Amino acid sequence: MNVKNEYLLGLMERVERRNPAEPEFHQAVREVLESLEPVVEAHPAYVKEGVLESLVEPERIIKFRVPWEDDQGNYHVNRGFRVQFNSAIGPYKGGLRFHPSVYEGIIKFLGFEQIFKNSLTGLPIGGGKGGADFDPKGKSDAEVMRFCQSFMTELCKYIGPDTDVPAGDIGVGGREIGYLFGQYKRMSNEFTGVLTGKGLTYGGSLVRTEATGYGLCYFTQNMLEAKGKSFDGATVCLSGSGNVAIYACEKATQLGGKVVTMSDSSGYIYDKNGIDLPLVKQLKEVERKRISEYVKAHPEAEYHEGCAGVWNVPCTIALPCATQNELNEAAAKTLIANGCIAVAEGANMPCTPEAVTAFLLSGVQFGPAKAANAGGVATSALEMSQNSMRYSWTFEEVDEKLKDIMKGIYTSSAEAAAEFGMEGNYVAGANIAGFRKVADSMLAYGL
Ligand code: GLU
Repeated sequence: MNVKNEYLLGLMERVERRNPAEPEFHQAVREVLESLEPVVEAHPAYVKEGVLESLVEPERIIKFRVPWEDDQGNYHVNRGFRVQFNSAIGPYKGGLRFHPSVYEGIIKFLGFEQIFKNSLTGLPIGGGKGGADFDPKGKSDAEVMRFCQSFMTELCKYIGPDTDVPAGDIGVGGREIGYLFGQYKRMSNEFTGVLTGKGLTYGGSLVRTEATGYGLCYFTQNMLEAKGKSFDGATVCLSGSGNVAIYACEKATQLGGKVVTMSDSSGYIYDKNGIDLPLVKQLKEVERKRISEYVKAHPEAEYHEGCAGVWNVPCTIALPCATQNELNEAAAKTLIANGCIAVAEGANMPCTPEAVTAFLLSGVQFGPAKAANAGGVATSALEMSQNSMRYSWTFEEVDEKLKDIMKGIYTSSAEAAAEFGMEGNYVAGANIAGFRKVADSMLAYGL
């Protein structure tokens, strides 16, 4: 770890020892502790009063069996998780991920990130995350429904609108939230805002679907403006083709950029004329097909096997929106050599630590996930507010609030970085600004 502070070195060692074989969680904690070195030295109370020690330990981890039946009548069992990481500033809040790679370490890393991200939004939400090692790919609607119902039959015992409010993440979109909410409602006999990302007919918020991608572009726009630049005329490389990538593509295009790539776990497409987004929406959101199908309608576009190659395409702005550690040091160096000026993370932790260092050293503007993709969870918090009020705001009202929130996140990250002599380092700034609000609340509560 890149710090001299003895306490932080020891703490990191304890985290690694207590959470063996969880490299993603270690990576997320290491980055935050590195950023906090100057803060801890200026404010010893955070160490003395046990705040840091408590912050790296989840308040609670729930782990459960999820049995379900497929369409052929075969029984399966998956493992479900909910990590209730930190409730210092509000009910636990964070998505559910359904993906075969899910295990405790992935959910812990995501839950840990969520603490700081949620704090940065300025809204009263704590950090949590959950999911299951279930692969929705290739499953029928009925199978997904049975899985969601079984998952919620157990999870409903631990969540509630003022306790823990899950939402979507990879593999959990509108369809899954509908099944999960329906089951919670049956089990509890209550109609409350216990999940966000709900359908518009049953308590969802306008803009929630678009919010992570739109927010990512608003954050990037703030970052670019600080250097007198903009999306206008920029070539944008995007990875992913899920909810975040689709709406990042939409907003980047509206702001005058030309998005030329998108990807899925098999490969990427390069369309030099600019991505045909209605087609991608049809393929991914309606037909649930592979991105390779794109070239059938656009033979002039290219499809390449292997998703990492997407970063070889020259661009001025790169928005990784697929998954963790998808952009490594070699990819970062290629992007830099090809003239990329800004990178912002739509996915959670998509850039490896070496890639982040390469961007920061070369002067590429870098928006870390905690700040750049916080628009999704921020709009979830706005959905919670509307549910509590039994009221709903218009699209324009929510979009304006989202813009203000992203500007606030940009400003607080930039100011915190400058306060500790790290101008333009939004990684350190986001970690410090997110940490302080949570840590000060924990100090106020006592041990
Ligand atoms: N999964 C999203 C994230 O990583 C959104 C979570 C939420 O809306 O609660 O922030």
